[in-house]
Amino acid sequence: MKAAVVSKKNPGKVDIKEVPVPKIGHGQALVEVEYCGVCHTDLHVAKGDFGAVPGRIIGHEGVGIVKELGPDVTNLKVGDRVSIAWFYKGCGACEYCITGRETFCRTVQNAGFSVDGAMAEQCVVDANYAVKVPDGLDPVQASSITCAGVTCYKAIKVSDVKPGQWIAIYGCGGLGNLAIQYAKNVFNAKVIAVDINDDKLKLAKEIGADLVCNSLKDGDAGEWIQKHVGGAHAAVVTAVSKVAFNQAVNSVRAASKVVAVGLPPETMDLAIVKTVLDGIEIVGSLVGTRKDLEEAFQFGAEGKVVPIVHTRCLDEVNDIFEEMEKGEILGRMVVDMHKHEAEPAKAKKKKTSK
Ligand SMILES: [Zn+2]
Ligand SMILES: [Zn+2]
Repeated sequence: MKAAVVSKKNPGKVDIKEVPVPKIGHGQALVEVEYCGVCHTDLHVAKGDFGAVPGRIIGHEGVGIVKELGPDVTNLKVGDRVSIAWFYKGCGACEYCITGRETFCRTVQNAGFSVDGAMAEQCVVDANYAVKVPDGLDPVQASSITCAGVTCYKAIKVSDVKPGQWIAIYGCGGLGNLAIQYAKNVFNAKVIAVDINDDKLKLAKEIGADLVCNSLKDGDAGEWIQKHVGGAHAAVVTAVSKVAFNQAVNSVRAASKVVAVGLPPETMDLAIVKTVLDGIEIVGSLVGTRKDLEEAFQFGAEGKVVPIVHTRCLDEVNDIFEEMEKGEILGRMVVDMHKHEAEPAKAKKKKTSK
């Protein structure tokens, strides 16, 4: 089968090559992958930012159809559509796994990093950890919810924003546009979208942001938000920028939460006086549990959240990495495993799935 494998010779790239079809064991299922989204995390994996893994098959925004079941699998059947997520498997027994915080399991396995992932024609899942994709949810969109969607949904849950309150979303890219939709259409919050790219802000407005702030042109987003709405009740930072984190802290009201999702390789400045006097909480949020993903899928199936997706072919993964690094991507690039030829550049940009 064909797969995208972390390159040994070219760090930061993948090799598209033939590899053996994986074998399944007890409790596992073999999935025929339909779609797999390309995430910034894949780029980190390819570069070795979390540790070098040459030869590893990348991909953790996978959706496909169960083709074969290992012995003892009772919760899946052949023909089910399931997801392959970054949270591939927990130990099931530690303090995190048994208290609804399984993504923090200290011996967690991550698809496309510590185990082979979904950027391949076929992939193995642990049946107990593969979340079913509900009927009525487009599988291309489901791939995007498997990582970007559930990450945003969970982050907003963690933010504790209430209906009618203001939430600031920093970064309107692949994650941010989904965060805006979940905040607006599921949590019934009022949304301020912050970015430095006018195209992304225009898109943010189209998908429901109440206010948009270009933090390059409109000045410091923290001050801007304090001036316009008296401060946000919560902030979620998806931007990969230290500046955004600092502005987020300054944009919230007293007793609010700032939820960190983006992963810039820096430290943030944190005014201790403001943190103490205003009772600010800064909290990290990491993808979502199986239950979070099930819920995030359901809101997608109900049409409350519509990921912006563009389908590409497997041979284009390195091109997508380049576009990602240039910040050129609006929405999400998703590899269609059944598509064998790249489309001309113009058509590519327009193609979205509804
Ligand atoms: Zn991801
Ligand atoms: Zn565990």
